[in-house]
Amino acid sequence: MTPGVNGHPLHDILEPVWQDVLRRNPAEAEFHQAVREVLESLGPVVAKHPHYVEAAIIERLCEPERQVVFRVPWHDDRGRVRINRGFRVQFNSALGPYKGGIRFHPSVNLGIIKFLGFEQIFKNALTGMPIGGGKGGADFDPKGCSDNEIMRFCQSFMTELHRHLGEYTDVPAGDTGVGEREIGYLFGQYKRMTNRYESSVLTGKGLGIGGARVRREATGYGTAIFVQEMLKERGMSLDGRRVVVSGSGNVALYAIQKVAAFGGITVACSDSDGVVIDEKGIDFDLLREIKEIERGRVADYAARRPGARHIPGGAIWDVPCEVAIPCATQNELTHHDATTLVANGCLAVAEGANMPTTPEAVRAFAEAGVLFAPGKAANAGGVATSALEMQQNASRDSWTFEHSEEKLTEIMRDIHRRCAETAETYGAPGNYVAGANIAGFIQVADAMLALGLV
Ligand code: NDP
Repeated sequence: MTPGVNGHPLHDILEPVWQDVLRRNPAEAEFHQAVREVLESLGPVVAKHPHYVEAAIIERLCEPERQVVFRVPWHDDRGRVRINRGFRVQFNSALGPYKGGIRFHPSVNLGIIKFLGFEQIFKNALTGMPIGGGKGGADFDPKGCSDNEIMRFCQSFMTELHRHLGEYTDVPAGDTGVGEREIGYLFGQYKRMTNRYESSVLTGKGLGIGGARVRREATGYGTAIFVQEMLKERGMSLDGRRVVVSGSGNVALYAIQKVAAFGGITVACSDSDGVVIDEKGIDFDLLREIKEIERGRVADYAARRPGARHIPGGAIWDVPCEVAIPCATQNELTHHDATTLVANGCLAVAEGANMPTTPEAVRAFAEAGVLFAPGKAANAGGVATSALEMQQNASRDSWTFEHSEEKLTEIMRDIHRRCAETAETYGAPGNYVAGANIAGFIQVADAMLALGLV
């Protein structure tokens, strides 16, 4: 066994797989990080089930089935030509059509989309729904763009992407920088290009164009439900707990709302400009109005909420809390942050974002006995509800909010149970990272074996 970038040794059988991933995907640090985390969990699985190794299932899983990279030309409001790069990585379709969001952010590159697509394979398997894994995006910065610019960009993006999509092929959704407005424009252009009202080719649509109730809320709600389940297992709950949520976008907002429904008090949230601290508990209605309707910033919240303070450039994880829910972006919670959180008495951490916690921080939480829920389990409620949206579109049906929320709760409890039981079975009780990686892997691996070498 040799130590790797994340410090934990790999099973001997997995070392060559890892070396191949490094060689084939140079300079893709986030992708390496995501693969490494899964490989570190799979030691006991390959030891117990050599048939996965013989069929080279892990090598196949690390290689996307297809990667599409394309130019996105568009005109800004001043008539200037602008060029961005678009991506869609169709990672694994053993369980169903590729499924995963589209991210618009200037930091987007192939390595980031591949890490997100790789994570998505296991996350989607954990939901128990028939969906494969994929992810897409563009290095487009929507900040400061007019509504017309956003629409023109979405139309150009979809003009190329549409040929790779389809309700049985690949079904994107939203992610950072892509919400209901963008999904609407993308769907409009898809409909125009194909002359088909193929509702379930995109999820996260507005309610008026085939969207599903609770999809908007699902990722944040699901993460809070996972936290509640984790705490319940230790005889605790969110009731009366001090919570800090990073970010203030779609996931953060609805995590805050659900935490409050469980009796928790979110005392701080953030954006890339700074942190807002509100000791009385974030006022969800005010924050929602500022973020979703006015497209404003957390500084605007602080200006309008008596008693709240804005700290420009502030460090969110310095705010003491019992539960931390990172909902902004990858690697936002470092080893230093983890040490601060532990010193401040943090009991539980749940990733609303994808891979927001660095490997060193995850290790610090494990050493301190802090409950830790990885994103592929904790934030799976979003994609699970997307699959429910596909189901409703296929049957031309529309469920009530209550029914949809009940389904989401059931799915999140089931994911929690599967992760906990699998961790126990493979000798890592209480380790949700191992549980999520192993349970997701086995489900996809068995489907791949059944499909033969394709
Ligand atoms: P949004 O674009 O709605 O919100 C992102 C939030 O995070 C914003 O407040 C943004 O601030 C903040 N943020 C982004 N980058 C940084 C940074 N570098 N530093 C500080 N703050 C930052 O995205 P979502 O809420 O949809 O997604 C957030 C995370 O959740 C992502 O990791 C995404 O992959 C993951 N996720 C999302 C799902 C969904 O259904 N939407 C499903 C599962 C996971 P600012 O406005 O200043 O950029």
